[in-house]
Amino acid sequence: MPEGDSVHRAARMLDAALTGHVLTKTDFRVPQVATVDLAGRPVDSVCARGKHLLIRIGADPAQLLTMHTHLMMDGRWEVYAPGERWRVAGHKVRCVLTNSTFEAIGVDLGFLRLFPSRLEPQAVGHLGPDPLGRDWDPDEVRERMLQAPERAVGLALLDQRNMAGVGNIYRSEALFVCRVHPLTPVGEVPDLPRLIERCFLMLHANRDRERRKTTPAELREPYWAYKRAGRPCFRCGTPLDLLRIGPAKLQQDRDAYVCRTCQPDPAA
Ligand SMILES: [Zn+2]
Repeated sequence: MPEGDSVHRAARMLDAALTGHVLTKTDFRVPQVATVDLAGRPVDSVCARGKHLLIRIGADPAQLLTMHTHLMMDGRWEVYAPGERWRVAGHKVRCVLTNSTFEAIGVDLGFLRLFPSRLEPQAVGHLGPDPLGRDWDPDEVRERMLQAPERAVGLALLDQRNMAGVGNIYRSEALFVCRVHPLTPVGEVPDLPRLIERCFLMLHANRDRERRKTTPAELREPYWAYKRAGRPCFRCGTPLDLLRIGPAKLQQDRDAYVCRTCQPDPAA
């Protein structure tokens, strides 16, 4: 699942390719908006809010349209020169935005919606502070998380209403570094501000990196815990465990990687 840093990177790439330029062609390949044609309108701005990406289109600030997309599990954006051959099968493409210099394609997007920009608060207003956003406010994240003090911290960290942008990878990594078991109730995490700060630092460290890495330079492997089930903990040597928490149907709530020695289970 893409983390907030990949969405912010995509937003910067799209901003450079699209903002300020008039669209010469648009092609929306999702049923609800398939007939919409936004050619002739300029892209006003592109921004990320957590894992949500907003592209605002139009010349008149009062009449802007927002194209709201989410990458979900496998989505991504790619930018080409117009007419350049795509490196992806056409049936995976959900939308094409072309201007005189660039062609941006949205691949395997989780969803794509179009609505008047004034309705943005209804679409993304529920999101908590974004570590990579201008509205970052760690105290507010802590307050939001503590509204459900009995909830497992491993679930609270993924809840985008608490903090927008943390996914499976940073959850496992931040909990490991802070020695907190994912099933620890939020209200019993010894140093919740430190855990929130760790998420912020990890997302920022990877803001501009092509390859995500949460470990120090001297460690060759990119992650402390993520996807390392069965392999020895870098701190104590105990084989790491894969822990499935949360309802199985919500895939994003699964797959936390823990060291049972460094992150003791609070119930044990
Ligand atoms: Zn360990």
